[in-house]
Amino acid sequence: MKYISTRGDAPKLNFEEVLLTGLASDGGLYVPESLPRFSADDLAAMAGLNYAELAERVITPFVDDCIPAADLRSILQATYAEFRHDAVAPMVQIGHNQWVLELFHGPTLAFKDFALQLLGRLLDYVLERRHQKVVIMGATSGDTGSAAIEGCRHCRNIDIFILHPNGRVSDVQRRQMTTVQGENIHNLAVEGNFDDCQAMVKACFNDRGFLPEDRSLVAVNSINWARIMAQIVYYFYAALALGGPGRPVSFSVPTGNFGDIFAGYLAARMGLPVEQLIIATNSNDVLHRVMTTSSYHRQPIEHTLSPSMDITVSSNFERLLFDLYDRDGDAISDLMQRFDSGDIAFTDDAVNRARQLFSSQSVNDEETCAQIAASWERCEYLLDPHSAIGVKAALDSGLSGPVITLATAHPAKFPDAIRRAGLTQAVALPHHLEGLFDRPERFEVLPNELGAVQSFMTANLRA
Ligand SMILES: *Cc1c(COP(=O)(O)O)cnc(C)c1O
Repeated sequence: MKYISTRGDAPKLNFEEVLLTGLASDGGLYVPESLPRFSADDLAAMAGLNYAELAERVITPFVDDCIPAADLRSILQATYAEFRHDAVAPMVQIGHNQWVLELFHGPTLAFKDFALQLLGRLLDYVLERRHQKVVIMGATSGDTGSAAIEGCRHCRNIDIFILHPNGRVSDVQRRQMTTVQGENIHNLAVEGNFDDCQAMVKACFNDRGFLPEDRSLVAVNSINWARIMAQIVYYFYAALALGGPGRPVSFSVPTGNFGDIFAGYLAARMGLPVEQLIIATNSNDVLHRVMTTSSYHRQPIEHTLSPSMDITVSSNFERLLFDLYDRDGDAISDLMQRFDSGDIAFTDDAVNRARQLFSSQSVNDEETCAQIAASWERCEYLLDPHSAIGVKAALDSGLSGPVITLATAHPAKFPDAIRRAGLTQAVALPHHLEGLFDRPERFEVLPNELGAVQSFMTANLRA
């Protein structure tokens, strides 16, 4: 399997190379050159596999011969053994033909664990073989940082540095990062805001000269292909659990950067019978506006009750555009360059093709709270604000077949939203996080200066 860039002007890579690469050298994102296809018989034979076994079937064609089968199997088994529910991704019925796929049973209680637990292990495996070490660096306002830290805690060949704005992330989110012990884990509390943190990460990627020559810098944001790949698996798992391939299902996906729902699109193209994919956004609804008006334009960010979906553009959308424009890298490169300097419009043909599989809905904070309250009242099911947006869009979709909403975070992570919804019962942290507020924290407060961050990093790299 080879991977190509959406902008058509970067080298083709194999799986190992794409794993170690973020953005392509032409500014594009890597996608598989072709997709594996599963027939109805293949799918029927996959029903009944456990999560790690299914992951092996789905992921093997993407990894190709870069990792021997037995090694891939043990990596996948170790990855999903970290999840605290025997089913890994259990489903709960919340209404007639309405289901919730719980993706929050990983170590940090959000769906990002599915990809980052695997990514850390894959990277470490490949680095060990190459006798290479890397530095992972990222800025976080919440979920991604803790999932990345948990994913790298046992990695011998990775030092990870995560920047967060000092005093500006919630207690639970900060503690999920700072209570993880490991000499390769570094939390940097920067005296600035999230944008300052992000700007420093960007500056480090643009000038890697501060690091020793033998260390490359790797990003953990959702443009990494392996993250998307890992997320394809649970679409298969859910559809097969509901009796697929005989019965097409729809998915409602709380969407920010378009990584998660893009994995659902790939599952459909690989042969999974999918009727519709619902793009559920909060009031940062750039994608909903694309679907309804064909024009793509940035709006100022709004801070909502579903912070992990607060975005102005969805970087992974470019991967879908590449297909909608018949994989014409020049066309995508041209579009994206024009988008850098202003708004753009997509062709009717492209957007109409998207509408064959995708629909969209934007849900504001008030509606989010109303949905949390309603789902509690009608079936005593407690939704986190991100998942509530998905459920609201699923219920409003008018689809008659089964709709599966991806529950992307555990409600205990967002107690403020639960209170805003008028629910007074305390939301207990799951068992394995009960001690979170007693564990010692480790983080370094640093001034908002690039030089300070870079010297801290070079002083703390492992030999
Ligand atoms: C990251 C995240 C999302 C958005 O996923 P994308 O892949 O960026 O679309 C939704 N919900 C939660 C809880 C998240 O952490």
